[in-house]
Amino acid sequence: MRVLICEDDPVSRQLLASFLEKWGYDVVVTNDGKEAWEALQEPAAPGLVVSDWMMPHMDGIELCRKIREKKETSYTYFIILTAKESKRNIIEGLKAGADDFVVKPFDHEELRFRVGIGERILELERRILKLAMTDVLTGVLNRRALMEKLEVEKIRAGRENTSLSLIIADIDHFKEVNDTYGHQTGDLVLQKFSDALMAATRPYDFVGRYGGEEFVICLPGNGQEEAVSTAERIRMRVEGLRVTASGNSASVQITGSFGVASFGLDSQESADSLLRRADKALYRAKSEGRNRVCV
Ligand code: GH3
Ligand code: MG
Ligand code: MG
Ligand code: MG
Repeated sequence: MRVLICEDDPVSRQLLASFLEKWGYDVVVTNDGKEAWEALQEPAAPGLVVSDWMMPHMDGIELCRKIREKKETSYTYFIILTAKESKRNIIEGLKAGADDFVVKPFDHEELRFRVGIGERILELERRILKLAMTDVLTGVLNRRALMEKLEVEKIRAGRENTSLSLIIADIDHFKEVNDTYGHQTGDLVLQKFSDALMAATRPYDFVGRYGGEEFVICLPGNGQEEAVSTAERIRMRVEGLRVTASGNSASVQITGSFGVASFGLDSQESADSLLRRADKALYRAKSEGRNRVCV
């Protein structure tokens, strides 16, 4: 794990860095709050900060306040080092948003434990965030996470003037699978179907479960033509799937229908409206006989 150190005193800074490195952390060293703030704006910035209190340019309290004011997608765990052990000062640090404090000169065993606590909390946060975003059955994004990511991608496409496409995929006659083979086999089919969608995507594409047996694939940077050929590839892959029914040896075969919609460049359309268009295309794919891709 990466840890950011922020300390103006060279001796103390060196000591901190060598201990943290010895304990296996990947250390980023800064000399004051201003430098630390800049380092924290980098894309893969450390999630845990060990910061001195008194420093030139920007002190530890101000640094902490600035971090808390900025709404982040992931949490920054903040440990403040202080020679000011009077209770009032400790409260001031906690009020600014620090998670913990260590009194200087620090006891290295104590610091090691407190950094360890921070690491545990960040790991819990990461796991909770992942759970909150994931569909339990299939492991793809759940509906809320899907819509959030779609919104972000829509804004990015507008800013970078690139295209963006959506595919809505729906299993054909899925109710019959449940009715014939049972709900458990239905679940298995859903998993295989979403695996097939995932297998057809590139690293920056994403897949979410939109409803029961309906999934959305978002293809940033792809225009309509590319999206149609991706959808066609998925359609064939799904057609080739064989799922063994749970509890008997029957081999279940399914097909899927697909609706595609794309933003043109300079599009002012909302993500919701794009989804509605893809849904209309899906409806047509269904009414024209299923197992097909419509735009
Ligand atoms: P169409 O070809 O028109 O899409 O027909 P369909 O039967 O696939 O569509 P319909 O909307 O009638 O049925 C969808 C079924 O999906 C009904 C519901 O019980 C089932 N379903 C939804 N979520 C789950 C799930 O998590 N597990 C299982 N096993 N079935 C589910
Ligand atoms: Mg200092
Ligand atoms: Mg269906
Ligand atoms: Mg459906």
